[in-house]
Amino acid sequence: MEKPEKPKRWASAKGAAPIAPAGPSPMPAGLRELEPGSTGRGRGSLGLAAAYAAGAANAFLQRYHADLARLAERADLPAEARWFDSHCHLESILQRTWRGGGKPQVANNEPEVTLPELVALWPPGLDGCVANFVFRKESKPGFTPEWEWIARHLSHFEEGSPISSKLWFTIGLHPHNAAGWDAAAEKTVRDFAAHPKCVGLGECGLDFFKHDPSEEEVQLTAFRAQAKLAVELGKALVVHARLVTRENEIRFLRELKQLVPQNHPIHIHCFGDSLEHAKELIDHYPRLRIGFTGAITFSDPPGSKGRQKGRGKHKGNELKKGQEHCRELIQCLPLERLLIETDGPYMCPEPFRGQTAHPGHVHRVAERIAEWQNVSLGAVMAATWQSTVEVYGLTRL
Ligand SMILES: [Zn+2]
Ligand SMILES: [Zn+2]
Repeated sequence: MEKPEKPKRWASAKGAAPIAPAGPSPMPAGLRELEPGSTGRGRGSLGLAAAYAAGAANAFLQRYHADLARLAERADLPAEARWFDSHCHLESILQRTWRGGGKPQVANNEPEVTLPELVALWPPGLDGCVANFVFRKESKPGFTPEWEWIARHLSHFEEGSPISSKLWFTIGLHPHNAAGWDAAAEKTVRDFAAHPKCVGLGECGLDFFKHDPSEEEVQLTAFRAQAKLAVELGKALVVHARLVTRENEIRFLRELKQLVPQNHPIHIHCFGDSLEHAKELIDHYPRLRIGFTGAITFSDPPGSKGRQKGRGKHKGNELKKGQEHCRELIQCLPLERLLIETDGPYMCPEPFRGQTAHPGHVHRVAERIAEWQNVSLGAVMAATWQSTVEVYGLTRL
């Protein structure tokens, strides 16, 4: 029997801003098609180089849209399926302030887009994203820090914006910026948290992967303050934890239990610690969900089993970082307790590794979970959509 015509679902996003069809045309409305001889923003002078860049950008977009067309054809994804990217960084996606943002594969291939243009690239089944704003300092010298970026772009999240129905946000201070926590930071966080589209506090937490244990006190101070605020303000707590050792996991859990009541919603994002720890977390907190990113789509490079994700100073956790560990986590945790996220621009899922991840890639994470849990993609979308709504209490304006 022939499958129903799929392009229909691309053309009718339920309750969302109009989205360009991802059908036969490789170029969505709202995105500038780069003509040969047109340079795009900040991409050098006219001539051959520009024509090459334009061609490369178009080829890149065609690959992206071919992937969305492939997704739409999956028999185990119902036409009415909806999903979310539960964690990304719009500032770094759009300003390219992440460490891969200046590399040729990004600079030469990806067209620069505005926020409305980015949203226009998303498949209509994607109900939107929760964008995290967690850096008071610049992500890259000379660029607008995340906190300032959200202040400048808040109108996109608000009534009257054609893309507001796809956007929610969190506010907090990342452990990499924990030294920036003070009374002024608390006031900023409180002010943003009062916004109707602010659905969470964080990401905040402890990162021993890229930091020395001597920074623990600074990170703990910022984390404790934000966890208390999340409870006081009734917002989901978004946790970034790279605990590295079992001892740290036990200490972190003890800390969390002291700070956050058992029924509070929590998102432990981009999980990379032990299965034992994941189970302890979900057993204690019924509204806690564990997020996985595009990193779960990566294969371990040959000859380096288990050494795959991250470039930290501390080697103790390497054996937990490879694909086998990700597979074990996902196969041993209940689907109902998982969230899908990109953490874009980082960890772009295969086959786009090294490019700028954004919410339009998050289905690749769901597909890997479906494969490893041996369930339909529709089941993964339904469960993770439900979890995103429950944890973040999403409401549309
Ligand atoms: Zn993080
Ligand atoms: Zn993040």
